Amino acid sequence: MPTSAEVIQMAVTAVTESAARYGVTDTTVAELRNRIHGKPGYAEGYLNGNLTALLVRIADDHHTDCDEPICRTCDNLRDALTIRLADMTTDPRMRRPRPARWPLQG
Ligand SMILES: [Zn+2]
Repeated sequence: MPTSAEVIQMAVTAVTESAARYGVTDTTVAELRNRIHGKPGYAEGYLNGNLTALLVRIADDHHTDCDEPICRTCDNLRDALTIRLADMTTDPRMRRPRPARWPLQG
């Protein structure tokens, strides 16, 4: 069984390889890292909010484009949305009378 450090390293490697295939540059990563550096609360909300918004955009775009009865992307998006929704609905901030402001404008 891999250690947690090994799991993290495998995840970093997988994300790095996928990001390279999509043309993510070190410069854009550094710009985002500098934007959130030293602001842990802001960073968490900003990153989670943006990742959630991107997940929904990808899922909605794919749903519009896909009419396959069996699709690995649909299966993966369903799993990702399930995980995200389970996480969001256990977050005490989501139980406020008014939802937290979506941190897209950061
Ligand atoms: Zn699909």
